[in-house]
Amino acid sequence: MSKTIFERIIAKEIPADVIYEDEHIVAFMDIKPVAPTHALIVPRKPIARLEDANAADHSILGHMLMKAPAIAAQLGLAEYGYRLVINNGRDAGQEVPHLHIHLIGGRKLAWPPG
Ligand code: AMP
Repeated sequence: MSKTIFERIIAKEIPADVIYEDEHIVAFMDIKPVAPTHALIVPRKPIARLEDANAADHSILGHMLMKAPAIAAQLGLAEYGYRLVINNGRDAGQEVPHLHIHLIGGRKLAWPPG
């Protein structure tokens, strides 16, 4: 199967505004932000969606969430908060089949989503 755009960003084959990376995850700014601040937290491992994660992926999934506050703080979102979103599958509007958390903030966000 061909690589997703996120695999290509992780492999540094195409550029992205990377704001954080470690052995398990890469975070970079979304190319089409839906709010003043919009980043993506992506596991290096190409898990397509949550249904494709297995028992060995617990620590990676936990790491994605546990790192979100530090990444949010780095982006200046710690004081007023932010939203974390996973679009999982077609009806959620998932476009890139590589699991990712959207980290969104910088203004008051509407709820519920459309
Ligand atoms: P989703 O619809 O949840 O799969 O979200 C995919 C996200 O990836 C969208 O918000 C896109 O704007 C974003 N995106 C697609 N290509 C790139 C890219 N080359 N660099 C940064 N973000 C991207």
